[in-house]
Amino acid sequence: MSTATASRSTPHSRKPTVTDQKMFIGGRWVDSVSGQTFETHDPSTGEVICRVAEGDAADVDLAVQAARRAFESGPWPQKSAAERGRLLHRLADLIEQHHKELAALETLDNGKPYAVALAADLPLAIKCYRYYAGWADKIHGKTIPIEGPYFCYTRHEPVGVVGQIIPWNFPILMQAWKLAPALAAGCTIVLKPAEQTPLTALRVAELAQEAGIPDGVLNVVPGFGPTAGAAIAAHPDIDKVAFTGSGEVGRLVMAAAARSNLKRVSLELGGKSPNIVFADADLDAAVQGAYDGLFFNQGQCCCAGSRLFVEEKIHAEFVARLVEKAKKQKLGDPFDLATTQGPQVSQEQLDRILGYIQSGREAGAHLLCGGHRVGERGYFIAPTIFDNVTDDMKIAEEEIFGPVMSVLPFRDVEEVIARGNKTFYGLAAAVWTRDVSQAFRVANSLRTGTVWVNCFDVFDAAAPFGGFKQSGIGRELGEYALSLYSEVKTVTVSL
Ligand code: NAP
Ligand code: MG
Repeated sequence: MSTATASRSTPHSRKPTVTDQKMFIGGRWVDSVSGQTFETHDPSTGEVICRVAEGDAADVDLAVQAARRAFESGPWPQKSAAERGRLLHRLADLIEQHHKELAALETLDNGKPYAVALAADLPLAIKCYRYYAGWADKIHGKTIPIEGPYFCYTRHEPVGVVGQIIPWNFPILMQAWKLAPALAAGCTIVLKPAEQTPLTALRVAELAQEAGIPDGVLNVVPGFGPTAGAAIAAHPDIDKVAFTGSGEVGRLVMAAAARSNLKRVSLELGGKSPNIVFADADLDAAVQGAYDGLFFNQGQCCCAGSRLFVEEKIHAEFVARLVEKAKKQKLGDPFDLATTQGPQVSQEQLDRILGYIQSGREAGAHLLCGGHRVGERGYFIAPTIFDNVTDDMKIAEEEIFGPVMSVLPFRDVEEVIARGNKTFYGLAAAVWTRDVSQAFRVANSLRTGTVWVNCFDVFDAAAPFGGFKQSGIGRELGEYALSLYSEVKTVTVSL
Protein backbone atom coordinates (compact mmCIF):
# COMPACT_ATOMS: atom_id res chain seq x y z
CA MET A 1 0.00 0.00 0.00
CA SER A 2 1.24 3.40 -0.88
CA THR A 3 0.48 5.21 2.32
CA ALA A 4 -0.79 4.66 5.87
CA THR A 5 -3.00 1.63 5.72
CA ALA A 6 -5.49 0.26 8.16
CA SER A 7 -4.84 2.55 11.09
CA ARG A 8 -2.97 0.25 13.40
CA SER A 9 -3.78 2.17 16.56
CA THR A 10 -7.55 1.52 16.56
CA PRO A 11 -8.81 -1.51 18.50
CA HIS A 12 -9.04 -4.40 16.09
CA SER A 13 -12.79 -4.85 16.50
CA ARG A 14 -13.28 -1.32 15.18
CA LYS A 15 -13.34 -0.29 11.57
CA PRO A 16 -9.95 0.73 10.23
CA THR A 17 -9.55 3.86 8.13
CA VAL A 18 -7.78 3.48 4.82
CA THR A 19 -6.23 6.08 2.53
CA ASP A 20 -6.39 5.98 -1.28
CA GLN A 21 -4.34 3.19 -2.82
CA LYS A 22 -1.85 3.01 -5.68
CA MET A 23 -0.84 -0.15 -7.51
CA PHE A 24 2.36 -2.15 -6.99
CA ILE A 25 4.57 -2.62 -10.05
CA GLY A 26 8.28 -3.42 -10.09
CA GLY A 27 8.51 -2.78 -6.34
CA ARG A 28 7.07 0.75 -6.62
CA TRP A 29 3.69 2.23 -5.71
CA VAL A 30 2.41 3.90 -8.85
CA ASP A 31 -0.70 5.52 -10.27
CA SER A 32 -2.36 3.92 -13.26
CA VAL A 33 -1.11 4.99 -16.68
CA SER A 34 -4.56 6.41 -17.43
CA GLY A 35 -4.71 8.20 -14.08
CA GLN A 36 -8.08 6.51 -13.46
CA THR A 37 -9.15 5.29 -10.04
CA PHE A 38 -12.16 3.34 -8.76
CA GLU A 39 -13.99 3.16 -5.46
CA THR A 40 -13.97 0.20 -3.15
CA HIS A 41 -16.96 -0.07 -0.82
CA ASP A 42 -17.81 -1.24 2.66
CA PRO A 43 -20.61 -3.75 1.97
CA SER A 44 -22.07 -3.34 5.46
CA THR A 45 -22.98 0.29 4.68
CA GLY A 46 -22.42 0.77 0.95
CA GLU A 47 -20.09 3.66 1.79
CA VAL A 48 -16.85 4.32 -0.08
CA ILE A 49 -13.74 3.13 1.81
CA CYS A 50 -11.18 4.74 -0.48
CA ARG A 51 -10.18 5.06 -4.13
CA VAL A 52 -7.83 2.62 -5.77
CA ALA A 53 -5.63 3.02 -8.86
CA GLU A 54 -7.48 1.40 -11.76
CA GLY A 55 -5.21 -0.74 -13.89
CA ASP A 56 -5.97 -1.66 -17.48
CA ALA A 57 -4.01 -3.14 -20.40
CA ALA A 58 -1.25 -0.50 -20.20
CA ASP A 59 -0.59 -1.17 -16.51
CA VAL A 60 -0.75 -4.93 -17.00
CA ASP A 61 1.85 -4.53 -19.72
CA LEU A 62 4.18 -2.60 -17.39
CA ALA A 63 3.66 -5.22 -14.70
CA VAL A 64 4.45 -8.02 -17.16
CA GLN A 65 7.64 -6.23 -18.22
CA ALA A 66 8.66 -5.91 -14.56
CA ALA A 67 7.83 -9.56 -13.92
CA ARG A 68 9.75 -10.68 -17.03
CA ARG A 69 12.84 -8.69 -16.01
CA ALA A 70 12.65 -10.14 -12.52
CA PHE A 71 12.26 -13.65 -13.91
CA GLU A 72 15.23 -13.43 -16.25
CA SER A 73 17.71 -11.27 -14.40
CA GLY A 74 18.22 -9.62 -11.06
CA PRO A 75 18.31 -11.39 -7.74
CA TRP A 76 15.32 -13.72 -8.14
CA PRO A 77 16.68 -16.37 -10.55
CA GLN A 78 19.94 -16.33 -8.58
CA LYS A 79 18.25 -17.22 -5.32
CA SER A 80 18.55 -20.81 -4.25
CA ALA A 81 15.39 -22.79 -3.69
CA ALA A 82 16.11 -22.74 0.04
CA GLU A 83 16.31 -18.93 -0.03
CA ARG A 84 12.93 -18.75 -1.75
CA GLY A 85 11.59 -20.90 1.06
CA ARG A 86 13.09 -18.57 3.67
CA LEU A 87 11.46 -15.54 2.01
CA LEU A 88 8.09 -17.28 2.03
CA HIS A 89 8.55 -18.09 5.72
CA ARG A 90 9.37 -14.45 6.36
CA LEU A 91 6.24 -13.35 4.50
CA ALA A 92 4.15 -15.81 6.56
CA ASP A 93 5.69 -14.38 9.75
CA LEU A 94 4.90 -10.82 8.70
CA ILE A 95 1.31 -11.71 7.84
CA GLU A 96 1.04 -13.36 11.23
CA GLN A 97 2.45 -10.29 12.97
CA HIS A 98 -0.14 -8.16 11.17
CA HIS A 99 -2.98 -10.65 11.29
CA LYS A 100 -5.40 -8.42 13.18
CA GLU A 101 -4.82 -5.50 10.88
CA LEU A 102 -5.25 -7.74 7.81
CA ALA A 103 -8.38 -9.39 9.20
CA ALA A 104 -9.86 -5.94 9.84
CA LEU A 105 -9.00 -4.81 6.31
CA GLU A 106 -10.58 -7.98 4.90
CA THR A 107 -13.74 -7.43 6.93
CA LEU A 108 -13.95 -3.82 5.86
CA ASP A 109 -13.61 -4.61 2.16
CA ASN A 110 -15.53 -7.91 1.98
CA GLY A 111 -18.05 -7.68 4.84
CA LYS A 112 -17.23 -11.04 6.43
CA PRO A 113 -17.43 -11.08 10.24
CA TYR A 114 -14.15 -9.96 11.75
CA ALA A 115 -14.20 -12.89 14.16
CA VAL A 116 -14.35 -15.26 11.18
CA ALA A 117 -11.59 -13.48 9.25
CA LEU A 118 -9.43 -13.77 12.35
CA ALA A 119 -10.27 -17.40 13.06
CA ALA A 120 -10.33 -18.80 9.52
CA ASP A 121 -9.07 -16.65 6.65
CA LEU A 122 -5.87 -15.41 8.26
CA PRO A 123 -4.66 -18.68 9.84
CA LEU A 124 -5.40 -20.60 6.63
CA ALA A 125 -3.52 -18.05 4.53
CA ILE A 126 -0.52 -18.08 6.90
CA LYS A 127 -0.43 -21.90 6.88
CA CYS A 128 -0.55 -21.88 3.09
CA TYR A 129 2.57 -19.68 2.85
CA ARG A 130 4.37 -21.87 5.39
CA TYR A 131 3.39 -25.06 3.61
CA TYR A 132 4.82 -23.87 0.29
CA ALA A 133 7.85 -22.36 2.02
CA GLY A 134 8.61 -25.93 2.99
CA TRP A 135 8.19 -27.15 -0.57
CA ALA A 136 10.53 -24.60 -2.19
CA ASP A 137 13.67 -26.76 -1.88
CA LYS A 138 11.86 -30.05 -2.44
CA ILE A 139 10.75 -29.41 -6.01
CA HIS A 140 12.93 -31.66 -8.09
CA GLY A 141 13.01 -34.09 -10.96
CA LYS A 142 14.24 -37.64 -11.33
CA THR A 143 17.01 -39.58 -12.94
CA ILE A 144 15.55 -41.91 -15.54
CA PRO A 145 17.15 -45.17 -16.68
CA ILE A 146 16.60 -44.81 -20.44
CA GLU A 147 18.05 -47.34 -22.88
CA GLY A 148 21.55 -46.86 -24.29
CA PRO A 149 24.72 -45.04 -23.18
CA TYR A 150 22.90 -41.99 -21.80
CA PHE A 151 22.31 -40.19 -18.57
CA CYS A 152 18.76 -38.83 -18.48
CA TYR A 153 17.31 -36.57 -15.84
CA THR A 154 14.39 -34.18 -15.41
CA ARG A 155 14.29 -30.71 -13.90
CA HIS A 156 11.17 -28.98 -12.62
CA GLU A 157 11.66 -25.41 -13.73
CA PRO A 158 9.40 -22.42 -13.03
CA VAL A 159 6.85 -21.89 -15.79
CA GLY A 160 7.81 -18.21 -16.00
CA VAL A 161 5.67 -15.09 -15.69
CA VAL A 162 2.34 -16.00 -14.17
CA GLY A 163 -0.95 -14.06 -14.31
CA GLN A 164 -3.32 -14.66 -11.41
CA ILE A 165 -6.92 -13.45 -11.26
CA ILE A 166 -8.74 -13.89 -7.97
CA PRO A 167 -12.28 -13.38 -6.65
CA TRP A 168 -13.72 -11.42 -3.73
CA ASN A 169 -15.10 -14.19 -1.49
CA PHE A 170 -11.79 -15.09 0.24
CA PRO A 171 -9.42 -12.38 -0.97
CA ILE A 172 -6.37 -12.95 1.23
CA LEU A 173 -6.76 -16.73 1.17
CA MET A 174 -7.19 -16.96 -2.60
CA GLN A 175 -4.12 -14.76 -2.93
CA ALA A 176 -2.20 -17.20 -0.72
CA TRP A 177 -3.38 -20.23 -2.72
CA LYS A 178 -2.07 -18.54 -5.87
CA LEU A 179 1.07 -16.72 -4.72
CA ALA A 180 2.60 -19.29 -2.40
CA PRO A 181 3.06 -22.21 -4.85
CA ALA A 182 4.06 -19.86 -7.68
CA LEU A 183 6.77 -18.22 -5.56
CA ALA A 184 7.95 -21.58 -4.20
CA ALA A 185 8.34 -22.78 -7.80
CA GLY A 186 10.37 -19.66 -8.73
CA CYS A 187 7.83 -17.85 -10.92
CA THR A 188 7.19 -14.12 -11.06
CA ILE A 189 3.66 -12.80 -10.82
CA VAL A 190 1.10 -10.27 -12.01
CA LEU A 191 -1.93 -10.57 -9.74
CA LYS A 192 -5.30 -8.90 -10.19
CA PRO A 193 -7.52 -8.85 -7.11
CA ALA A 194 -11.28 -8.56 -7.51
CA GLU A 195 -12.59 -5.03 -7.99
CA GLN A 196 -14.72 -5.42 -4.83
CA THR A 197 -11.81 -6.40 -2.57
CA PRO A 198 -8.40 -5.03 -3.58
CA LEU A 199 -7.16 -3.92 -0.15
CA THR A 200 -5.59 -6.97 1.47
CA ALA A 201 -3.82 -7.96 -1.76
CA LEU A 202 -2.07 -4.57 -1.80
CA ARG A 203 -1.11 -4.80 1.86
CA VAL A 204 0.30 -8.31 1.35
CA ALA A 205 2.37 -6.98 -1.56
CA GLU A 206 3.84 -4.39 0.80
CA LEU A 207 4.65 -7.12 3.32
CA ALA A 208 6.20 -9.26 0.57
CA GLN A 209 8.59 -6.40 -0.18
CA GLU A 210 9.36 -6.05 3.52
CA ALA A 211 10.03 -9.80 3.65
CA GLY A 212 12.71 -9.31 1.01
CA ILE A 213 10.97 -10.69 -2.06
CA PRO A 214 12.79 -8.83 -4.84
CA ASP A 215 11.13 -6.02 -6.77
CA GLY A 216 9.22 -7.16 -9.83
CA VAL A 217 8.67 -10.70 -8.52
CA LEU A 218 5.18 -9.81 -7.28
CA ASN A 219 3.13 -7.13 -9.02
CA VAL A 220 -0.44 -6.28 -8.01
CA VAL A 221 -2.67 -4.53 -10.54
CA PRO A 222 -6.13 -3.73 -9.21
CA GLY A 223 -8.81 -3.05 -11.79
CA PHE A 224 -11.80 -4.49 -13.58
CA GLY A 225 -12.18 -7.88 -15.17
CA PRO A 226 -13.00 -6.90 -18.75
CA THR A 227 -9.96 -4.55 -18.88
CA ALA A 228 -7.18 -5.56 -16.46
CA GLY A 229 -8.29 -9.21 -16.15
CA ALA A 230 -8.78 -9.65 -19.87
CA ALA A 231 -5.36 -8.06 -20.53
CA ILE A 232 -3.73 -10.68 -18.29
CA ALA A 233 -5.53 -13.53 -20.04
CA ALA A 234 -4.55 -12.21 -23.48
CA HIS A 235 -0.99 -11.05 -22.77
CA PRO A 236 1.49 -12.72 -25.12
CA ASP A 237 4.32 -12.60 -22.57
CA ILE A 238 2.48 -14.27 -19.69
CA ASP A 239 3.31 -17.97 -19.61
CA LYS A 240 0.49 -19.17 -17.40
CA VAL A 241 -2.79 -17.84 -16.06
CA ALA A 242 -4.52 -19.08 -12.91
CA PHE A 243 -8.11 -18.00 -12.45
CA THR A 244 -10.77 -18.42 -9.77
CA GLY A 245 -14.30 -17.16 -10.36
CA SER A 246 -17.33 -17.80 -12.53
CA GLY A 247 -17.50 -20.38 -15.31
CA GLU A 248 -18.53 -17.67 -17.72
CA VAL A 249 -15.30 -15.73 -17.19
CA GLY A 250 -13.28 -18.95 -16.98
CA ARG A 251 -14.27 -19.65 -20.58
CA LEU A 252 -13.20 -16.14 -21.64
CA VAL A 253 -9.84 -16.63 -19.94
CA MET A 254 -9.30 -19.94 -21.69
CA ALA A 255 -10.32 -18.52 -25.07
CA ALA A 256 -7.99 -15.54 -24.64
CA ALA A 257 -5.15 -17.88 -23.67
CA ALA A 258 -5.82 -19.98 -26.77
CA ARG A 259 -5.90 -16.94 -29.05
CA SER A 260 -2.78 -15.28 -27.68
CA ASN A 261 0.09 -17.62 -26.87
CA LEU A 262 -1.32 -20.92 -25.56
CA LYS A 263 -0.40 -19.92 -22.03
CA ARG A 264 -1.09 -22.64 -19.48
CA VAL A 265 -4.50 -22.28 -17.86
CA SER A 266 -5.80 -23.44 -14.51
CA LEU A 267 -9.36 -22.69 -13.45
CA GLU A 268 -11.40 -22.98 -10.27
CA LEU A 269 -15.00 -22.28 -11.20
CA GLY A 270 -17.36 -23.00 -8.37
CA GLY A 271 -19.96 -25.67 -7.96
CA LYS A 272 -23.33 -26.92 -6.84
CA SER A 273 -22.12 -29.33 -4.23
CA PRO A 274 -24.35 -32.18 -3.04
CA ASN A 275 -24.38 -32.57 0.74
CA ILE A 276 -26.00 -35.95 1.46
CA VAL A 277 -27.44 -36.84 4.85
CA PHE A 278 -28.53 -40.43 5.53
CA ALA A 279 -30.99 -41.24 8.29
CA ASP A 280 -28.35 -43.14 10.29
CA ALA A 281 -26.03 -40.10 10.56
CA ASP A 282 -25.05 -38.39 13.80
CA LEU A 283 -27.81 -35.83 13.46
CA ASP A 284 -26.30 -33.14 15.67
CA ALA A 285 -23.12 -33.16 13.61
CA ALA A 286 -25.00 -33.41 10.31
CA VAL A 287 -27.33 -30.51 11.09
CA GLN A 288 -24.37 -28.34 12.07
CA GLY A 289 -22.35 -29.45 9.05
CA ALA A 290 -25.23 -28.90 6.67
CA TYR A 291 -25.94 -25.50 8.13
CA ASP A 292 -22.34 -24.24 8.13
CA GLY A 293 -21.66 -25.97 4.82
CA LEU A 294 -24.08 -23.56 3.18
CA PHE A 295 -24.20 -20.43 5.35
CA PHE A 296 -20.47 -20.03 6.05
CA ASN A 297 -19.10 -16.81 4.53
CA GLN A 298 -22.64 -15.53 3.79
CA GLY A 299 -23.05 -18.49 1.43
CA GLN A 300 -20.31 -17.08 -0.81
CA CYS A 301 -18.28 -20.29 -1.09
CA CYS A 302 -17.41 -22.08 -4.30
CA CYS A 303 -17.86 -25.42 -2.49
CA ALA A 304 -21.06 -24.48 -0.59
CA GLY A 305 -23.24 -27.53 0.11
CA SER A 306 -26.01 -25.91 -1.90
CA ARG A 307 -27.93 -29.10 -2.73
CA LEU A 308 -28.76 -30.58 0.64
CA PHE A 309 -30.09 -34.10 0.09
CA VAL A 310 -31.84 -35.38 3.23
CA GLU A 311 -33.18 -38.94 3.52
CA GLU A 312 -36.98 -38.88 3.73
CA LYS A 313 -37.14 -40.72 7.08
CA ILE A 314 -35.45 -37.84 8.93
CA HIS A 315 -36.42 -35.02 6.63
CA ALA A 316 -39.10 -33.33 8.80
CA GLU A 317 -36.96 -33.27 11.94
CA PHE A 318 -33.86 -32.25 10.02
CA VAL A 319 -35.39 -29.20 8.35
CA ALA A 320 -37.01 -28.11 11.63
CA ARG A 321 -33.58 -28.10 13.25
CA LEU A 322 -32.06 -26.16 10.36
CA VAL A 323 -34.73 -23.49 10.67
CA GLU A 324 -33.98 -23.24 14.41
CA LYS A 325 -30.35 -22.54 13.58
CA ALA A 326 -31.27 -19.97 10.94
CA LYS A 327 -33.34 -18.08 13.51
CA LYS A 328 -30.25 -17.80 15.74
CA GLN A 329 -28.05 -16.29 13.04
CA LYS A 330 -27.03 -12.78 14.07
CA LEU A 331 -26.83 -10.39 11.13
CA GLY A 332 -25.22 -7.00 11.47
CA ASP A 333 -22.03 -4.99 11.76
CA PRO A 334 -19.26 -7.43 10.87
CA PHE A 335 -16.96 -5.72 13.37
CA ASP A 336 -19.34 -6.65 16.19
CA LEU A 337 -17.81 -9.81 17.61
CA ALA A 338 -21.27 -11.31 18.18
CA THR A 339 -22.18 -11.06 14.47
CA THR A 340 -22.34 -14.42 12.71
CA GLN A 341 -23.50 -13.25 9.27
CA GLY A 342 -22.29 -10.15 7.46
CA PRO A 343 -23.53 -8.52 4.28
CA GLN A 344 -23.17 -9.94 0.77
CA VAL A 345 -20.22 -8.39 -1.02
CA SER A 346 -22.07 -5.98 -3.33
CA GLN A 347 -25.37 -4.62 -4.59
CA GLU A 348 -24.86 -6.75 -7.71
CA GLN A 349 -24.59 -9.94 -5.68
CA LEU A 350 -27.54 -8.91 -3.48
CA ASP A 351 -29.75 -8.39 -6.54
CA ARG A 352 -28.60 -11.61 -8.09
CA ILE A 353 -29.38 -13.63 -4.96
CA LEU A 354 -32.79 -12.00 -4.51
CA GLY A 355 -33.48 -12.97 -8.14
CA TYR A 356 -32.73 -16.62 -7.31
CA ILE A 357 -34.99 -16.43 -4.25
CA GLN A 358 -37.79 -15.11 -6.47
CA SER A 359 -37.22 -17.94 -8.93
CA GLY A 360 -37.41 -20.50 -6.07
CA ARG A 361 -40.77 -19.08 -4.98
CA GLU A 362 -42.11 -19.07 -8.52
CA ALA A 363 -40.98 -22.65 -9.12
CA GLY A 364 -43.00 -23.76 -6.10
CA ALA A 365 -40.22 -24.58 -3.63
CA HIS A 366 -41.42 -24.35 -0.03
CA LEU A 367 -39.90 -21.29 1.66
CA LEU A 368 -39.30 -22.16 5.32
CA CYS A 369 -37.55 -19.00 6.45
CA GLY A 370 -35.88 -15.83 5.18
CA GLY A 371 -36.41 -14.92 1.56
CA HIS A 372 -35.83 -11.19 1.92
CA ARG A 373 -33.33 -8.41 2.34
CA VAL A 374 -32.65 -7.16 5.86
CA GLY A 375 -32.49 -3.39 6.33
CA GLU A 376 -32.01 -0.74 3.69
CA ARG A 377 -28.34 -0.06 4.28
CA GLY A 378 -25.68 -2.62 3.43
CA TYR A 379 -26.31 -5.82 1.50
CA PHE A 380 -27.82 -8.15 4.11
CA ILE A 381 -30.04 -11.13 3.26
CA ALA A 382 -31.93 -13.17 5.85
CA PRO A 383 -30.77 -16.80 5.98
CA THR A 384 -33.13 -18.51 3.57
CA ILE A 385 -34.17 -22.16 3.45
CA PHE A 386 -36.21 -23.69 0.66
CA ASP A 387 -37.65 -27.16 1.22
CA ASN A 388 -38.97 -29.70 -1.29
CA VAL A 389 -36.71 -28.38 -4.00
CA THR A 390 -36.65 -30.53 -7.13
CA ASP A 391 -33.63 -31.22 -9.33
CA ASP A 392 -34.98 -29.24 -12.28
CA MET A 393 -35.47 -25.95 -10.41
CA LYS A 394 -33.06 -23.16 -11.22
CA ILE A 395 -32.14 -22.87 -7.52
CA ALA A 396 -31.03 -26.51 -7.62
CA GLU A 397 -29.07 -26.14 -10.85
CA GLU A 398 -27.24 -22.81 -10.67
CA GLU A 399 -24.69 -21.44 -8.24
CA ILE A 400 -26.50 -18.88 -6.04
CA PHE A 401 -23.48 -17.74 -4.00
CA GLY A 402 -25.60 -16.47 -1.15
CA PRO A 403 -27.32 -17.56 2.09
CA VAL A 404 -29.95 -19.65 0.31
CA MET A 405 -30.26 -23.34 1.15
CA SER A 406 -32.13 -25.87 -0.96
CA VAL A 407 -33.31 -29.08 0.73
CA LEU A 408 -34.00 -32.03 -1.58
CA PRO A 409 -35.51 -35.13 0.04
CA PHE A 410 -34.35 -38.57 -1.20
CA ARG A 411 -35.21 -42.26 -0.62
CA ASP A 412 -32.17 -44.43 -1.27
CA VAL A 413 -28.48 -44.52 -2.01
CA GLU A 414 -28.61 -45.28 -5.76
CA GLU A 415 -31.07 -42.50 -6.32
CA VAL A 416 -29.03 -39.94 -4.39
CA ILE A 417 -25.76 -40.83 -6.12
CA ALA A 418 -27.42 -40.39 -9.51
CA ARG A 419 -29.03 -37.11 -8.51
CA GLY A 420 -25.87 -35.87 -6.82
CA ASN A 421 -23.99 -36.35 -10.08
CA LYS A 422 -26.71 -34.80 -12.25
CA THR A 423 -24.91 -31.48 -12.69
CA PHE A 424 -22.26 -30.01 -14.93
CA TYR A 425 -20.37 -29.01 -11.78
CA GLY A 426 -18.01 -31.29 -9.86
CA LEU A 427 -16.20 -29.32 -7.19
CA ALA A 428 -17.10 -30.85 -3.83
CA ALA A 429 -19.58 -33.07 -2.00
CA ALA A 430 -20.22 -34.45 1.46
CA VAL A 431 -21.88 -37.52 2.90
CA TRP A 432 -23.12 -38.06 6.45
CA THR A 433 -23.67 -41.65 7.61
CA ARG A 434 -22.50 -44.09 10.29
CA ASP A 435 -22.40 -46.91 7.73
CA VAL A 436 -18.78 -47.23 6.63
CA SER A 437 -19.49 -49.09 3.39
CA GLN A 438 -22.13 -46.59 2.43
CA ALA A 439 -19.74 -43.70 3.12
CA PHE A 440 -17.04 -45.18 0.87
CA ARG A 441 -19.52 -46.13 -1.81
CA VAL A 442 -20.89 -42.60 -2.03
CA ALA A 443 -17.46 -40.99 -1.77
CA ASN A 444 -16.13 -43.10 -4.62
CA SER A 445 -19.20 -42.62 -6.81
CA LEU A 446 -19.50 -38.84 -6.75
CA ARG A 447 -17.72 -37.09 -9.61
CA THR A 448 -16.23 -34.26 -7.56
CA GLY A 449 -12.73 -33.07 -6.70
CA THR A 450 -13.33 -33.27 -2.95
CA VAL A 451 -15.62 -35.44 -0.83
CA TRP A 452 -16.01 -34.83 2.88
CA VAL A 453 -17.30 -37.72 4.99
CA ASN A 454 -19.04 -36.71 8.23
CA CYS A 455 -17.49 -33.26 7.97
CA PHE A 456 -17.60 -30.22 5.67
CA ASP A 457 -15.25 -27.43 4.58
CA VAL A 458 -12.19 -29.10 6.05
CA PHE A 459 -9.36 -27.32 4.26
CA ASP A 460 -5.65 -27.83 4.63
CA ALA A 461 -2.82 -26.39 2.57
CA ALA A 462 -1.59 -29.97 2.03
CA ALA A 463 -4.89 -31.32 0.64
CA PRO A 464 -5.49 -30.69 -3.08
CA PHE A 465 -8.62 -28.81 -4.07
CA GLY A 466 -10.23 -28.31 -7.48
CA GLY A 467 -12.95 -29.44 -9.77
CA PHE A 468 -14.10 -32.31 -11.96
CA LYS A 469 -16.22 -31.42 -15.00
CA GLN A 470 -17.01 -27.72 -15.44
CA SER A 471 -15.85 -26.83 -11.94
CA GLY A 472 -12.39 -26.30 -13.26
CA ILE A 473 -9.06 -27.50 -14.54
CA GLY A 474 -6.13 -28.38 -12.29
CA ARG A 475 -5.68 -28.69 -8.54
CA GLU A 476 -4.62 -26.00 -6.13
CA LEU A 477 -3.03 -26.70 -2.74
CA GLY A 478 -0.91 -29.70 -1.87
CA GLU A 479 1.89 -31.00 -4.00
CA TYR A 480 -0.38 -30.81 -7.07
CA ALA A 481 -0.34 -27.01 -7.16
CA LEU A 482 3.41 -27.07 -7.81
CA SER A 483 2.79 -28.68 -11.18
CA LEU A 484 0.62 -25.69 -12.14
CA TYR A 485 3.68 -23.48 -11.81
CA SER A 486 6.43 -25.74 -13.20
CA GLU A 487 7.58 -27.09 -16.51
CA VAL A 488 9.33 -30.45 -16.73
CA LYS A 489 12.58 -30.39 -18.67
CA THR A 490 14.17 -33.66 -19.80
CA VAL A 491 17.96 -33.56 -20.19
CA THR A 492 19.70 -36.46 -21.95
CA VAL A 493 23.48 -36.66 -21.88
CA SER A 494 25.49 -39.02 -24.09
CA LEU A 495 27.96 -41.00 -22.03
P1 NAP B 1 -16.12 -13.17 -11.95
O1 NAP B 1 -16.59 -12.05 -12.81
O2 NAP B 1 -15.83 -14.47 -12.57
O3 NAP B 1 -14.86 -12.60 -11.16
C1 NAP B 1 -13.71 -13.30 -10.77
C2 NAP B 1 -12.45 -12.53 -11.17
O4 NAP B 1 -12.35 -12.49 -12.60
C3 NAP B 1 -12.47 -11.07 -10.72
O5 NAP B 1 -11.16 -10.66 -10.40
C4 NAP B 1 -12.97 -10.39 -11.97
O6 NAP B 1 -12.70 -9.02 -12.07
C5 NAP B 1 -12.26 -11.15 -13.05
N1 NAP B 1 -12.84 -11.00 -14.38
C6 NAP B 1 -14.10 -10.62 -14.71
N2 NAP B 1 -14.24 -10.57 -16.05
C7 NAP B 1 -13.05 -10.93 -16.58
C8 NAP B 1 -12.56 -11.09 -17.92
N3 NAP B 1 -13.33 -10.84 -18.98
N4 NAP B 1 -11.29 -11.50 -18.09
C9 NAP B 1 -10.49 -11.76 -17.03
N5 NAP B 1 -10.89 -11.62 -15.76
C10 NAP B 1 -12.15 -11.21 -15.53
O7 NAP B 1 -17.16 -13.40 -10.81
P2 NAP B 1 -18.12 -12.30 -10.15
O8 NAP B 1 -18.78 -11.47 -11.21
O9 NAP B 1 -17.34 -11.59 -9.14
O10 NAP B 1 -19.20 -13.24 -9.48
C11 NAP B 1 -20.20 -13.83 -10.28
C12 NAP B 1 -20.47 -15.25 -9.87
O11 NAP B 1 -19.28 -16.03 -10.04
C13 NAP B 1 -20.83 -15.44 -8.41
O12 NAP B 1 -22.16 -15.19 -8.14
C14 NAP B 1 -20.46 -16.87 -8.23
O13 NAP B 1 -21.49 -17.70 -8.69
C15 NAP B 1 -19.23 -17.04 -9.10
N6 NAP B 1 -17.98 -16.93 -8.30
C16 NAP B 1 -17.29 -18.05 -8.03
C17 NAP B 1 -16.15 -17.99 -7.25
C18 NAP B 1 -15.36 -19.20 -6.92
O14 NAP B 1 -14.74 -19.25 -5.86
N7 NAP B 1 -15.26 -20.17 -7.79
C19 NAP B 1 -15.71 -16.77 -6.74
C20 NAP B 1 -16.43 -15.62 -7.05
C21 NAP B 1 -17.56 -15.72 -7.83
P3 NAP B 1 -13.65 -7.98 -11.34
O15 NAP B 1 -12.96 -7.79 -10.06
O16 NAP B 1 -13.69 -6.76 -12.15
O17 NAP B 1 -15.00 -8.60 -11.22
MG1 MG C 1 -17.22 -9.47 -11.81
